[in-house]
Amino acid sequence: MRKNIVAGNWKMNLNRTEGIALVEDVLAKLPTDNNTHVVFAPSFVYLHKVAKMCANTSKVAAAAQDCSSNEKGAFTGEISANMIASCNARYVVLGHSERRANFKESNELLKTKVGQAFTNNLKVIFCCGESLVQRESGVHFDWINTQISESLFHLSSEEFKNIVIAYEPIWAIGTGVTASTDQAQEIHAFIRNILVDQYGLEVALSTSILYGGSCKPSNAKELFASQDIDGGLIGGASLNSDDFIAITQSF
Ligand code: PEP
Repeated sequence: MRKNIVAGNWKMNLNRTEGIALVEDVLAKLPTDNNTHVVFAPSFVYLHKVAKMCANTSKVAAAAQDCSSNEKGAFTGEISANMIASCNARYVVLGHSERRANFKESNELLKTKVGQAFTNNLKVIFCCGESLVQRESGVHFDWINTQISESLFHLSSEEFKNIVIAYEPIWAIGTGVTASTDQAQEIHAFIRNILVDQYGLEVALSTSILYGGSCKPSNAKELFASQDIDGGLIGGASLNSDDFIAITQSF
């Protein structure tokens, strides 16, 4: 059975004190079912602290929001996958649309980052998603297929088991406009089908596919009830413990 996952992407929000308080709150109210997993993606600066707080349960983990495409060396300001793993984080988020847009991250570059993550035994939450213009012109299926295939389809079936996909329509991120459940389910089913074609049914059915884009307590239940939606990558609503806890309890 694939995991249900709720991952909080804090982006450049919450200082150390605020982040620790939020993690404490969430840990005190973890979902009681065994299949719901919670991931926190804080700033690098206190990733180690958050990972330590998550160490007592396999159902909770810390994630980095990005990693370098390089192994090590003269890359001032960069953080390597090895450094992240050495802080006991278990995941890294790659390909978030903000990184693709603001830092010009290409599918090719992300392929290299995935390689660094895997060399260091990190699981990858791989983000994909289309802009509104792409959706309105009907190229969104091809776009998402290309994002996934160019960055991930060099992986073996065994390696792919360490990938979580996050479908995040850019027009829904931070806008308050959520994809309808039908729109999200349609893309999630499409993604699962391309995984079936590439890796077969077993891998496709065991891959968690998360929805991201203005997911909140009021819509999480309906979204998560869909056949191919296995949880969420949550931005804004992950910064408030009551909201985030409510989302973790929405399966
Ligand atoms: C995100 O940035 O990954 C995200 C889903 O943001 P929000 O929930 O705020 O739309």
